[in-house]
Order: sequence, then C-alpha cells, then structure tokens
Amino acid sequence: MALPVLEATRYTCELPVSKKKVEYRPFLVKEQKLLLVAGESEEQSQITNGMLDLLQNCVFNTDEVQLREIPIMDLEYLFIQVRMKSAGETVKVGLGCDKCEESTEVEVDLRKSAMNGELPINTIKLTEQIGIKLTFPSLKTMPEEETSTTESIFDMIAGCIDQVYSGDEVFTRDDFTTKELKEFLDQFTSEQFELLNNYFMEMPRYCQTINWTCVGCGVDNQRELQGIADFFA
Ligand SMILES: [Zn+2]
Repeated sequence: MALPVLEATRYTCELPVSKKKVEYRPFLVKEQKLLLVAGESEEQSQITNGMLDLLQNCVFNTDEVQLREIPIMDLEYLFIQVRMKSAGETVKVGLGCDKCEESTEVEVDLRKSAMNGELPINTIKLTEQIGIKLTFPSLKTMPEEETSTTESIFDMIAGCIDQVYSGDEVFTRDDFTTKELKEFLDQFTSEQFELLNNYFMEMPRYCQTINWTCVGCGVDNQRELQGIADFFA
C-alpha cells in the first residue's frame, strides 16, 4: 500500500531590496539535515552553498527569482523567512564569552533581526565626467573560492559594475567585455578605488545585537550577529 504524500503549505513574501515576489514552501527534515552538515563546515562558501541548495528546493518560482542573481541581502532575508516557517522563529546559538571564552547557548528570536542601515548610493562619480553604476553583490558576483586575494576582490567588484558613463555616454554591461572592464579598473587611483571599497563596506546585512550572561563566569556580554553564517553556523 502506498503511503499518502504530505502536501506542503505554500507561502509568499516580497524581497526587501529587489522587490521580487517569492513563492516557497518550508524545508523538510531531509533538507534540514543537509544544512546542518553544511553548518559544520568552517568555510563560508560551504554554508552559502548549503543555503542555496535548500532554497532552490523550497522556492517554486526560481526561474523568475534567480536566486544566484538577487542581492545577497535578499537571499539572507529569504532564508530567514523560510527557516522561520520550517523550524520555528528562534534559533539556538553558542556564543563565546569575551572574558572566559566559555560558550553559552543563547536563544535568538529571528523576528528581531533586521537590515542594519540604508542601502548605499549605487552611483559613484570618479571624475567630473566619468562614473560607474553598481549593482548589489549576489552569489553570482561572489568569488567561488574563499580567498581574499586582490584578484578575487577585483573580480567581485568587476562583477558588480553595471554601467560606466562618460558625460552623456552610457556603457551598459553588454557594451564591454570583462577584460576591458578590468583594464578600466586598473587605471583607478587608490582614492577612486577607496570609493568603491566603501560601497561594499557600507552594504547593510541582516543582523541582531545579542545580550547574554555567561554561564561560566556570570559576566554580561554583547555581540552583533551578522549574516546567515553567524545565526546558523
Ligand atoms: Zn564568561
């Protein structure tokens, strides 16, 4: 006798940055296991891939949403929504004490996490005439390897450049090759490069400030959890 198939509930949400509408279902126990395995890894890229695999399974309209291309903030937001519908609104995180390093298990309410700050202005003026327009980083623009070599940072920046303008002339991503773009970046002064760097540094993330009392020494601690890895690793 064939056992009945459980029909998953469908939910929808709107992504805060791209405003795309997502239709999704909660994740299943077998899928949660994959995530736990990814969470045991120290590597950010493993955690990110685990999160992406899980969302690919749970989102119905992946053709429309393109999870690899949406801003990383949207991806984090979506993951938190799916997690809350699947495994509850709280998550237990082990946090190390600043004084004695003893780890205390703290219950974090995911509903209280929010984006810290405003989205940075995405047009950067390099000279009187020349400037660039950036997109927000996505998994597509993130370097594959967990290295912070100059080359991979360069690749990430290049991946986020959407337009280059010179006076009234606008070059969109189809007008130039990656090689041409890199040659363009090579001409930047360190001051101009700094402007670009600030854009990425100011990017808001999902975060929450956690206060807890250490079980080991009784000292009060405070920490800001930021990004998916902090909440679920
Ligand atoms: Zn302590």
